[in-house]
Amino acid sequence: MSETKYDYDLFVIGGGSGGVRAARIASQYGAKVALAEEYRYGGTCVIRGCVPKKLLVYASHFPEVFEEARGFGWSVGETSFDWASLIAHKDHEIDRLDDIYRTNLEKAGVELHRSRAVVEGPHTVRLLAEDRTITTERILVATGATPVIDTKIPGHEHVITSNEAFHLDALPQSVLIAGAGYIAIEFAGIFNGLGVDTTVIYRRSNILRGFDDDLRSHLRDEMVKKGVKFVFDDVITSITKRDDGKLVSATTASGDIVTDQIMFAIGRAPNTKGLGLEAAGIETDPIGAIPVSDDSQTSCPSIYAVGDVTNRANLTPVAIREGHAFADSTYGGKPWTVDHSLIPTAVFSQPELGTIGLTEEQARAKFPNMDCYMTRFRAMKHAFPGRDEYMMMKILVDADTGKVVGVHLAGEGMGEVIQAVGIAVAMGATKADFDRTIAVHPTAAEELVTMRVPAMKIREADHPDNMLDIGLTPRA
Ligand code: NAP
Repeated sequence: MSETKYDYDLFVIGGGSGGVRAARIASQYGAKVALAEEYRYGGTCVIRGCVPKKLLVYASHFPEVFEEARGFGWSVGETSFDWASLIAHKDHEIDRLDDIYRTNLEKAGVELHRSRAVVEGPHTVRLLAEDRTITTERILVATGATPVIDTKIPGHEHVITSNEAFHLDALPQSVLIAGAGYIAIEFAGIFNGLGVDTTVIYRRSNILRGFDDDLRSHLRDEMVKKGVKFVFDDVITSITKRDDGKLVSATTASGDIVTDQIMFAIGRAPNTKGLGLEAAGIETDPIGAIPVSDDSQTSCPSIYAVGDVTNRANLTPVAIREGHAFADSTYGGKPWTVDHSLIPTAVFSQPELGTIGLTEEQARAKFPNMDCYMTRFRAMKHAFPGRDEYMMMKILVDADTGKVVGVHLAGEGMGEVIQAVGIAVAMGATKADFDRTIAVHPTAAEELVTMRVPAMKIREADHPDNMLDIGLTPRA
């Protein structure tokens, strides 16, 4: 591309979602691109995140499916589950995806290095496995993040994280999961669905902080119905291993909790340790994340960073977008930046969540007048065989403009639904737009276009006298 005095136009560190996208696109624009990955291609999402997680979620649904089948006239014979076989199939699928990622990079003309790479300056990278230093006009850091463990807790060496959960030799009979974010809640559903006695311990009083409060309470209650136990306002203070192999977690409020396995899902830390960023004058923030501008540029003009290592919105599709925007802007002559303000997302909990936009709390703070539409109902598929599982849908509307500012969904398939709803919300759809959309019948999603009466109207000044709370859903 450029008449460059460097070995490469772009050197990408990290072969995950963001790095791979940026490398491919930049190369397709004609840049001379190399990428270093010390492990496998695809990153957390493919190797030990979204993809294997979703496969385990699918597997964990089957006991309920067998149960429900009876209501539909099926007699289900004896069933059994083989964890080792599931893990082997999962690993086979991941091998396939790793291969696809590598092939796509090669097809795009990206030079691949199976090596750890360390920044040695604004334009130099050391490839440890090859024992050599290369020069490059720009560097893109896309090294992701890794699960954290609280090493201050005595006995922390006995715990696993999501990384190890994907490779357990056998399913434990019981598990204690610390944390109540995405990973904790998704794994609680997986373990519980597969028959593991599952307890979640969390330092506050409700799961999934940051999500809409009604959605959080709804999911918590549905998970409890399915058998997950929650220990709130409590933390593990120490862990000891008994002679019989059981792990004993001492807690501040609930005494000892004895389980076969303890999994920490208390967040992820950006992978910047030992990366050499200081050699380029880049300072990370207190959790190790790389501060970047809207166009993913670090404080060193030749070094950019995308994905979880920047701790913006730690989601695969966001990393992909950031990588793509960087490549289009820098090598394609098409500058654009990622809008992080309106991101549809799913939690593959059981039941599943789909959400976009503001929570009720945020919408109340932002808009003086707001209408809240909400419904809870049993889907036909669950009601017919008599299963006690409810769906929830909530639409938040700025009453002054009619614009839909938040949609929060819980129930089977809601991850799929929010993708489509997200298009409408991102386009600025109003509640009237939802209302004039003809329902698809019979579906659960038709409720989204048939809610006519607000469950709650919040009016200026937010004085209790001004609030009409029809109260379809009891608050937690
Ligand atoms: P997370 O969502 O940030 O949740 C961390 C949880 O651990 C929170 O409940 C937090 O409590 C708790 N915690 C933090 N430090 C703790 C400590 N020292 N002791 C006890 N509890 C502690 O992190 P995550 O579940 O590990 O997920 C990491 C990232 O992966 C997320 O940001 C998410 O974007 C991404 N992810 C996305 C998906 C998806 O899109 N479906 C799935 C998995 C992961 P507080 O609430 O009190 O802070």
